[in-house]
Amino acid sequence: MTEAGDLRQHHQVVVVGGGPVGSLTALELARGGIDVLVLEAAPHTTDVPKAGTIHARSIQLLTRRGYFAAPDVDAEAASTTFHYAGVWGLEITAPPGEGPAIAGIGQSDLERLFTARLIGLGTPVLKAAVVTEVHQDDGGATVTFTHEGRTRVVTADWVVGADGARSIVRRSAGFTATETAPTAAALLGFAVLDDPANAPRGWVRTERGWTVLNVDHTGFSRIITFDLGGPHEDHRRPLTAEELQVTVDRFAGRPVPFRNARSLSRFSDYSRLVDDYRLGRVLLVGDAAHVHFPLGGQGLNLGIGDAIGLGWRLALVARGQADPSVLDVYSRERHACAAGVIANVADQRERMRIGVDGDRLRHELGVLLEDRDRNRALGSAISVQSQPAPSALQDAARGDFAANTVIETDTGVSDLIRLHVAAGNRGLLLCGDASESVRALVEPFWAERVRVIRARNLGATTVLVRPDGEVAWSGELGDGGELVTRLAETFGGSAARARLTSAGTRQPRTGAKRLPADG
Ligand SMILES: Cc1cc2nc3c(=O)[nH]c(=O)nc-3n(C[C@H](O)[C@H](O)[C@H](O)COP(=O)(O)OP(=O)(O)OC[C@H]3O[C@@H](n4cnc5c(N)ncnc54)[C@H](O)[C@@H]3O)c2cc1C
Repeated sequence: MTEAGDLRQHHQVVVVGGGPVGSLTALELARGGIDVLVLEAAPHTTDVPKAGTIHARSIQLLTRRGYFAAPDVDAEAASTTFHYAGVWGLEITAPPGEGPAIAGIGQSDLERLFTARLIGLGTPVLKAAVVTEVHQDDGGATVTFTHEGRTRVVTADWVVGADGARSIVRRSAGFTATETAPTAAALLGFAVLDDPANAPRGWVRTERGWTVLNVDHTGFSRIITFDLGGPHEDHRRPLTAEELQVTVDRFAGRPVPFRNARSLSRFSDYSRLVDDYRLGRVLLVGDAAHVHFPLGGQGLNLGIGDAIGLGWRLALVARGQADPSVLDVYSRERHACAAGVIANVADQRERMRIGVDGDRLRHELGVLLEDRDRNRALGSAISVQSQPAPSALQDAARGDFAANTVIETDTGVSDLIRLHVAAGNRGLLLCGDASESVRALVEPFWAERVRVIRARNLGATTVLVRPDGEVAWSGELGDGGELVTRLAETFGGSAARARLTSAGTRQPRTGAKRLPADG
């Protein structure tokens, strides 16, 4: 583990917060060759149970980045049944060849996995380091923190705030946010049920409120109550076992005795979404940027998307290969995604309300869930797979997430996920018939950022896929102008210079003049 005495004064990027999202962001940067320092307030990873639902899109992203084993491309589509607004029957489906629709993985396990890899890459991770201030000017940023009773300062070209809901980075740097006030009060705890066989299991609604019990017959059960009637009187007051017991009994309408209650906390439907994920040299990821009612288990999943969406872009910018404006694209994309989740969670909350309005909305939901297409559309929203995943890469358009598919390369049959894993931090440029022209156009400038692969089964189509699986461009090459423009927008570099140097796409590969990789 890193000691404060080993730290250097300056780093390309300082990541504040080494939770699941911060450790993944730092790992993505370190894999991109960036000199990163992680400052984490806690002395060690805690096992307080929080997120455990990893949704389909997160699985697909983590698989493409090589953190989970690549599935068999021939595997059938995977489906699972989930809940929406407390109603069971939502169908979540992952496309064929993409692995499971949901995985149950604790967030502390993910944090340990990412942190171990980070440390393996030699990245300093300083624990028990509490950041107190972030200051930036045109030349860089200064991060002040306390460690072992001393105040210390490091400087960085870029700072990433991954320090959770109460983010000091967000407040200190002056990010603005849009908030909604709490209207509901939820309690959470883990306890041993005295009579698990007779406890109300799953999502149960009565005239007084909701109980949600994940009943464990031999160990600790997770116990949640939702009171949709109003917010906590004092959300900072520590929750006691007695208050949880009284609330569960009242909502259930009968005693549901438990003992050894632990990990007690309150939460609410308060939401906050920063207006911009970037302010100069400071960026936000995870709960530092967005918080919402944890219905449907989407918060960490959003954070995983943030980390993977930011990592490759910030690596390009920190290396001087791309203009910082690519970070504004990160901000816009992730803001839209979080806004969608916040709207979806608010919709669930309204359908959970006790009374005639809630009853009507839940009835409508029941009808909706019986319609297979609408059910699947809602399932895609919850699993953050909102963009359609085309079954064939040829049909993919810009903004689609490119679903796994067989790719016939010059060296054998592979698939999109395996090519992503092999490409590391680079994007993929898959080209059919036009591969020689594409290489001549692209390799002198973008070889470090994009891997060009001949995909014999793509015919006349060329597809540019970002490291996070999104299609940046697809179509027939033509004079190459559109592709070059999109390459420059996505991965940095000068499109004009590329066009001039390559003098059109007909230039043979051997004739291409090699220029510095930063184009
Ligand atoms: C009951 C509950 C259930 C949930 N279930 C799910 C689920 O199933 N699926 C899902 O996707 N999401 C779920 N969530 C949401 C999920 O837990 C969060 O979205 C997730 O923890 C966000 O990760 P993060 O790394 O952004 O923030 P955090 O996990 O809060 O990590 C922030 C890190 O920053 C550190 N830090 C804070 N301040 C400082 C500082 N000043 N200096 C240095 N370090 C600092 C902290 O110690 C911490 O390690 C749930 C939330 C709750 C409350």
